[in-house]
Amino acid sequence: MAGYREHISVSGLCGVAVGAAATMGLGFTPVQAALAGVLTWVGGMLPDLDADGGRPVREISALVGAVVPMIVIRRLVRLFGSVDAAILVAVILYAIIRYGGATMIRRLSVHRGMFHSIPALLISAELVYLGYLSEDKTVKLLMASGVAVGFLSHLILDELYSVQWSGTRIKLKRSAGSAMKVFGKAAHANIGCFGFLGLLTWLTLIDTGLIVDPYDRLRTKHIHADRMQADEELTPKTGDIFQPDPQAPPEPLPPETIPHQPIPHERVAEEERDMLY
Ligand SMILES: [Zn+2]
Repeated sequence: MAGYREHISVSGLCGVAVGAAATMGLGFTPVQAALAGVLTWVGGMLPDLDADGGRPVREISALVGAVVPMIVIRRLVRLFGSVDAAILVAVILYAIIRYGGATMIRRLSVHRGMFHSIPALLISAELVYLGYLSEDKTVKLLMASGVAVGFLSHLILDELYSVQWSGTRIKLKRSAGSAMKVFGKAAHANIGCFGFLGLLTWLTLIDTGLIVDPYDRLRTKHIHADRMQADEELTPKTGDIFQPDPQAPPEPLPPETIPHQPIPHERVAEEERDMLY
């Protein structure tokens, strides 16, 4: 298993690569690219949140606790209606992640359980995609990709460390294959992980517009039905007596019924004609 230092160094390098590619190759602003690079670096530490305590876990949870509220701050402002309320919720969120998050994760998972897996990678990326609010969906995608690259670098590094070279022979440690996995050993962890992944994927696909929001479809249906009903009520039926609304403003006269008022130059022309004859 790779150590804390190896992970932060490798994911840090990946972060630099992501940032450079985003600004030089993909046309994102330097600020957006730098933020994506930082998320790559943090993403490379995420899987070890399931480790059994110690300084690295405390440091990772402090960092994650600080970064998460900042990533979702725009969403918090929209959700709670004011910047003050959003800041308060962000502080509470920090405290929960910093002091309760890692303990909760440790209780719910085992080291190298489903936290070290491809579905966990997708969950982290989708959480960032959904949490980061931006008018430009490609920016959201960039942030999510940053986390995914960092997370992947962690899983690859863990797998590389399970390969032992002894002279000319390659030996695999017992931990081989436990990082880059799709399914874990525990059925309940698999069900929980895939259930959550399914829900987030569904929400992400709605956000990207690849599938239609069922709530939107329902709302459109209601508006359509209301409009049809209103049209029906306004359409005169046979036998209806037309009653003009006494409060309605008078209807403008059609142009042909307005008496012709000669405009000044016409009047001059008429006077000149009269003088001639
Ligand atoms: Zn690990």
